[in-house]
Amino acid sequence: MKILIKNGRIIDPKAGIDKKSDLLIENGKVMKIASAIKEEKAEVIDAAGKLVVPGLIDMHTHLREPGREDQETIKTGLRAAVKGGFTAVCPMPNTEPPCDNQAQVKFLKEKAEQYGLAKIWPIGSITRGRKGKAIADMTDLKEAGVRAVSDDGDSVEDAELMRRALEYASMLDLLVISHCEDKKLAGEGVMHEGYWSTVLGMSPIPSASESLIVERDIRLAALAGARLHIAHVSAEESVNAIRQAKKEGITVTAEVTPHHITLKDEDLKTYDTNLKVNPPLRSVSDIKALKEGLKDGTIDVIATDHAPHLVNEKEKEFDYAPFGMIGLETALSLSAALIDEGVLDWKTLIEKMSVTPGKILQVPGGTLAEGACADVTIIDPDKEWVYTKKSIESRSQNSPFLGWKLKAQVTDVIVGGKIVLREGEIT
Ligand SMILES: [Zn+2]
Ligand SMILES: [Zn+2]
Repeated sequence: MKILIKNGRIIDPKAGIDKKSDLLIENGKVMKIASAIKEEKAEVIDAAGKLVVPGLIDMHTHLREPGREDQETIKTGLRAAVKGGFTAVCPMPNTEPPCDNQAQVKFLKEKAEQYGLAKIWPIGSITRGRKGKAIADMTDLKEAGVRAVSDDGDSVEDAELMRRALEYASMLDLLVISHCEDKKLAGEGVMHEGYWSTVLGMSPIPSASESLIVERDIRLAALAGARLHIAHVSAEESVNAIRQAKKEGITVTAEVTPHHITLKDEDLKTYDTNLKVNPPLRSVSDIKALKEGLKDGTIDVIATDHAPHLVNEKEKEFDYAPFGMIGLETALSLSAALIDEGVLDWKTLIEKMSVTPGKILQVPGGTLAEGACADVTIIDPDKEWVYTKKSIESRSQNSPFLGWKLKAQVTDVIVGGKIVLREGEIT
């Protein structure tokens, strides 16, 4: 099968391409980038006025299967991924049971292959059963194709155990993704500690509950010589710690979510429980620091932390509602707002949502170089659209962005040379 993408602006930061051109896909691979390609037997996609970029890769997704298929299944999660322009996602292991063994990794991969939507790179847990007591069998996980481990949802509380886990991961060349949270310090908190938590009378979560563990895990990673990735950075102090660590030559990378750069603690005055996330939405000055971090390269990646929850779970009092919001279908548009703000340009945005996640995870993708696997996302950069319940592919609807007018929309997605999204519709 041949696909010919005509007249698009091809942006491939890795190959140093940014030009108007045609792109030909054949047998699942990028065959040729050239102007005015003639190919009679190909399916033609007209990409005039659009961007043709390497498929987006989400390093941080919650798919909920097995265990909570009422919130999200692998299938619905992958449909949401494709709709949002992602050609690969990395499901976090905090399912029921947690993904800490080969059988479960295989289950996830087989299911994803069967659906033929986005690809899947399952993340294994750091500790057995995510219990924080003993290190998971990382050799087994690595053999099953796992590239990264994480106990996301929790930090590994025991610093000695975390050090050993980092050493073990380093030996196997596995990335360790850290959810940084001192649970005791965060306590029963539900929002960022600051002026607005006082005004609203809500239990506070101090920034230090994140940044202390960021600093601890950076030091432990340096000791172990491991590759550490900090999940969902939200606080200015964390950005500063990561910037300092990079200066020292420590191998740490970091991600931010679109919601942490779009929304602030003050927004919680609506008491919308869809704004309850962990880590919490921070202050205006934190957001400024996150954007500076994105701009100067301290923050390498934009990842969704797509966290589906049922409507009836979220329709509780703020204190009792679960943490998390869905994000796969809005991530690109929300992040693209950074371009209008002058924080990033398209090249650096594609780096943070495709090239760098692929590089950090050591997975194929993140490039449109000739011969590369044809994972391609096509974006209409100027298209304005309204995010509605009707458009949602995820099984859950817990998003505070419903009704928002967004700019930049994914129109077509090709995974492994197969069209999975065509003019906004899943094929
Ligand atoms: Zn987390
Ligand atoms: Zn998460």
